[in-house]
Amino acid sequence: MGANNTINAVYEQVCKRNAGETEFLQAVKEVLDSLGPVIDKHPEYVEAKILDRIVEPERQNIFRVPWQDDKGRFQINRGFRFEFNSALGPYKGGLRLHPTVNASILKFLGFEQVFKNSLTTLPMGGGKGGSDFDPKGKSDNEVMRFCQSFMTELCRHIGPDTDVPAGDIGVGGREIGFLFGQYKRIRNEFTGILTGKALNWGGSLIRPEATGYGAVYFAEEMLKTRKDSFKGKICTVSGSGNVAQYTIEKLNALGAKAVTLSDSSGFIHDPDGVDAEKLAFVMELKNIKRGRIKEYADKYGVEYVAGKTPWGVKCDCALPSATQNEINEDDAKTLLKNGCFVVSEGANMPSTPEAIEQYLGAKILYGPGKAANAGGVATSGLEMSQNSMRLSWSCEEVDEKLHDIMISIHKQCFDAAKEYGDPGNYVMGANIAGFVKVADAMLDQGLV
Ligand code: NDP
Repeated sequence: MGANNTINAVYEQVCKRNAGETEFLQAVKEVLDSLGPVIDKHPEYVEAKILDRIVEPERQNIFRVPWQDDKGRFQINRGFRFEFNSALGPYKGGLRLHPTVNASILKFLGFEQVFKNSLTTLPMGGGKGGSDFDPKGKSDNEVMRFCQSFMTELCRHIGPDTDVPAGDIGVGGREIGFLFGQYKRIRNEFTGILTGKALNWGGSLIRPEATGYGAVYFAEEMLKTRKDSFKGKICTVSGSGNVAQYTIEKLNALGAKAVTLSDSSGFIHDPDGVDAEKLAFVMELKNIKRGRIKEYADKYGVEYVAGKTPWGVKCDCALPSATQNEINEDDAKTLLKNGCFVVSEGANMPSTPEAIEQYLGAKILYGPGKAANAGGVATSGLEMSQNSMRLSWSCEEVDEKLHDIMISIHKQCFDAAKEYGDPGNYVMGANIAGFVKVADAMLDQGLV
């Protein structure tokens, strides 16, 4: 059977087994579509059914999360932890709390995580979890009671050498604290079972910054291939959470100007740029007051567009940092028409397959999420190392390691795309470079 037939047969089986899980199928198709040249070169992967195995999570935990709200009413949510692949190390990947969370979304994220973690070259397998609990509008006490109930079940599945979750949408420092506290209480162990911890109890410097900084470092490497830099570039950024905030901090440091921010209600356009003072306002607004981005427009007298994404704003570079499928084909066409020539994905799978086709057709510098946003999990890996060694590295040390890892991820993707015949195609490069390491480890470890 030729490579295409093998890939089609695997994809058909995935569609049958996971009917209706559109995000998961989208993520699987994107990876499989890149692997033809690798399959041609490595019949041993087909023989050992590596493709059939890699698309099936090793373990799927789905559980009930009962908790009580401030009025004493009982609430029931659904909790998940998908342990996708442990060929390279303990399962590693974030927890997402958002009302849209379901098996399809977490499986797409867990699947992507396997290749992303492989690209970091650190010893981490891939997993993802979360719940359809909506932290928005909940009191701190409600969030704490939810997190305690969630961890009461999750603690059976995780451990410092088994599965080490982190944050994602809706899970920041507050939630990691509550989750860690409950694990410690149940297990009577102070151990590195989560990353993204606060500094004074086992966290790593630069972990909050890492995903955003990393997406900018990756884009900087792409720009260097065209002898260009961020200096003077106009950038659109979506989201206003963890990734968006630190993306903007690093863009400012490199002399670029970020002109947009958004949340699920709309976006702001600030042609003067989100400078350090305005960014501090956003951090306070989003991380402490938990308000809406519209308040930025009210405070600084700039344009606010309700119910829209920022992709119609003219820019050189776009850094989507909110959520999946936030850039569709029309958005991509608009970006290109307006002269955008760099897209670096801080978010996971923010571009639809049709949008990606547009970027690849126009040969712009496009860094897919599994490469461009790997700095977050890479720094989580560094947090795990520091926990194991019971020491903490300085800010400069961690940032330097993060920067080196992003340079190395860029190089792996760039080299793989060239080796397999499509230079400059970072989608293909990231998928192949991420896949080969996992596939080889799976071959070594036998039929498991
Ligand atoms: P946060 O919860 O800190 O922020 C998320 C931001 O995106 C908020 O502004 C939120 O707006 C907006 N958003 C969320 N869902 C939607 C939606 N359906 N439509 C429009 N806007 C939305 O999350 P992070 O910054 O941590 O994560 C952002 C993205 O980056 C996600 O795709 C995540 O998977 C990815 N990522 C995060 C990493 C990390 O280290 N945190 C690592 C790698 C990737 P609102 O407040 O209105 O919901």
